[in-house]
Amino acid sequence: MRYGGNTSCLEVTAAGRRLIFDAGTGIRALGLELARSANLDIDIYFTHTHLDHITGLTFFAPLFEESNSVRLWAGHLEAPHTLKNVVTKLMQAPLYPVSLEVFRAEVGFNEFRAGDTLACGEVGLRTAPLNHPNGATGYRVDFGGKSICYITDTEHRPGERDKTIVELCRGADVMIYDSSYTDEEYPRYREWGHSTWQEGVRVADAAGVGTLAIFHHDPSHDDAFMDDVARQAASLRPGTVASGLPRVVVAHEGLTLAP
Ligand SMILES: [Zn+2]
Ligand SMILES: [Zn+2]
Repeated sequence: MRYGGNTSCLEVTAAGRRLIFDAGTGIRALGLELARSANLDIDIYFTHTHLDHITGLTFFAPLFEESNSVRLWAGHLEAPHTLKNVVTKLMQAPLYPVSLEVFRAEVGFNEFRAGDTLACGEVGLRTAPLNHPNGATGYRVDFGGKSICYITDTEHRPGERDKTIVELCRGADVMIYDSSYTDEEYPRYREWGHSTWQEGVRVADAAGVGTLAIFHHDPSHDDAFMDDVARQAASLRPGTVASGLPRVVVAHEGLTLAP
């Protein structure tokens, strides 16, 4: 599988800080790499806590090292849910063999409201609510005049752009966008809370985004299918931006983007 089969996880490094977005199964390999160092100071921001975005958390090696500090953040939960009780429930019988106390790192649970502005050291973080069952949060990371937006999971309304997303992503260098389906497939998946790669192109164009990263691939889409999406997307957004990045890219396991 060239595009990869892990679920959502991405890492943004800026100003000496390490920001991780989502803890899908992809966080396991990242954790093993990070665990080669000690005294880690890490923030993990969840778009939401559906299983595909949180199930890798308990396999994140830095959580098992005493010298590390890991802060978890979520902005989509409504009372009585809290991030701490969601993780506690994930790690309990008969779903999981050990409880939260197994973590050796200092773990912090932080709640905010999607729409709040946060900061991680000198790194600016804007957030916005997405259209997803049980809620989700979109993020914009700004540092040193560069910006990356992470927009998943979200469902568009056919024929109109989501103004909240366009506003959050305006002029961003990179937008990583929920492209679970194609426009042709979408009518079968109404209300599932996901969008299409074509809508990603339309939002990127409306917001003046530099590079669109097609993300959150449906598991039924194999490499040949994604190659075809890549070709079609490149014909709609040809060329590169000043940094040399293509104007559209299909995200794959281990992809690094440096705007
Ligand atoms: Zn979801
Ligand atoms: Zn998802």
